Amino acid sequence: MKRLILSTLALSTCTLAIAAAPPTFSTQRLSAEVKTLSSDAFEGRGPATPAETRTIDYVVAQMKAAGVQPGGDIVDGKRTWTQAVPLLRSAIVGTPALTLTIDGKPQALTQGEQIAVRAPTNGSNSVTIADAPLVFVGYGVKAPERQWDDFKGVDLRGKIAVVLINDPDFETGKGDFGGKAMTYYGRWTYKYEEAARQGALGMLVIHETAPASYGWATVKNSNTNTMFDIVRDKPAEVHPELEGWIQRDLAVAMFKGAGLDFEALKQKAQTRDFRPVVLKGESLSAHFKADTKVITSHNIVGRVEGSKRPDETVIYSGHWDHLGVGAPDARGDRIYNGAVDNATGTAALIELGRAFAHGPQPERSVIFLNVTAEEKGLLGSEYYAANPLYPLAKTAGVLNVDALDPHGPAHNFTISGSARLGLLDDLIAAAKSYGMVYTPDPKPEAGYFFRSDHFSFAKRGVPAVSFGSGNDWVDGGVAAGKAAEDDYTEKRYHQPADEWRADWSFTGMARDLQLLYTVGNDLANSDAWPDWSKDSEFRAIRDKSAAERK
Ligand SMILES: [Zn+2]
Repeated sequence: MKRLILSTLALSTCTLAIAAAPPTFSTQRLSAEVKTLSSDAFEGRGPATPAETRTIDYVVAQMKAAGVQPGGDIVDGKRTWTQAVPLLRSAIVGTPALTLTIDGKPQALTQGEQIAVRAPTNGSNSVTIADAPLVFVGYGVKAPERQWDDFKGVDLRGKIAVVLINDPDFETGKGDFGGKAMTYYGRWTYKYEEAARQGALGMLVIHETAPASYGWATVKNSNTNTMFDIVRDKPAEVHPELEGWIQRDLAVAMFKGAGLDFEALKQKAQTRDFRPVVLKGESLSAHFKADTKVITSHNIVGRVEGSKRPDETVIYSGHWDHLGVGAPDARGDRIYNGAVDNATGTAALIELGRAFAHGPQPERSVIFLNVTAEEKGLLGSEYYAANPLYPLAKTAGVLNVDALDPHGPAHNFTISGSARLGLLDDLIAAAKSYGMVYTPDPKPEAGYFFRSDHFSFAKRGVPAVSFGSGNDWVDGGVAAGKAAEDDYTEKRYHQPADEWRADWSFTGMARDLQLLYTVGNDLANSDAWPDWSKDSEFRAIRDKSAAERK
């Protein structure tokens, strides 16, 4: 560790004045914390299970011992260690009755096979749809800043919108939506939100493997089980009554039944002058009940108060939850331990907390936000961002950590997805003094930018990124890093085998934490407000609160 840093400093910083050296991070502590959090006793850290209490007790005890102060909900005039996160849980009861009628001929659709319908999260506990007309709405995008509107004022009340996945320039790689890279308009979450805004009764997303970036099995697994959302005042404003996906083959048959050509209409949808098309003579019926319940989980919140501008905040975030206890793997193991995902990030927050609590007091306050229910759809971070404990307008930046690499150090780092913002420039600049370079996400079309907790902040304009460990290992190069990455994806990611290992050195993570500390500490001692690049879809919303940062 030390040798690596000294040698890179000697190479790269002879003309730079070096600020106070960053603290060193204990690999023993990181290893012990990851080991404890991912042990079987923590039962895979499912939210709102007995394992939640165990996890909170452990993390809070560690943060306390690290010298961090509580930063959560105020109870009796005092900050507590947690923020209560009420979640709506909804599960379809029995088998949903789903019928597609083409040309007067009804055919039953099988849940999980041709169609995957989600349990309702719009506030109701039953879905009753009789012969709703179907309307193809292209990519379902309404983007005024790009002069794009797929809806063109079509009346979707009482109707089911049928929509393509990803954004209009995914297929060609050229256009107004970032080329191959996915904008938020390409995410299915956006599509359902827009459907609700357009007043649609429901929306069916057509699954295609390349633009979705995953196969039907993933769609089936994540949409036909229990659904969760944060408890919202007006859930119907973001969720239509029916949300679902259909297989491409079914979509092609539906288009054909209406005398339409799927591929031709898909191409048309890649242009501005696309107009919604009614699937003539076709309708969908859906009848099912859902078991809905409000459960309460918690974000864990630690804080180191700023000396000069305590009302301004820098946030380090990362989720504590994982998948809990579930289906057994080939070894019969049912506990999804989540060592990498995300005991590493939780340990990172504890140790960053220790570094700030023991280091020189920062001018801005620093928050260590260990969120819940990431695995259920970024819900803990969504709840915090919708109900912030510290104003978002004065939150200078969010550095999220999810699934850090417990092996040795790398020559590079990455972030989830593609985005242009000052915070990334700061990371790139600081990384130089550690001999590290930035490697962009090699698959920006997969939309990873929208699949990690920093996104709950980004979509509200707060500069936010998810840091990712590099794969060009100091020991073994890209070949070794890539092999470990592939092994993890295949054998451990979201499987019971994501377990702590005695041969993990944690030296790479200790170095990554020095970089993250440096960037967060510089931001916490600055009066600057890093922003999004001019062409970012998140800049306009940030600009709205600019007056509060003067
Ligand atoms: Zn995960």
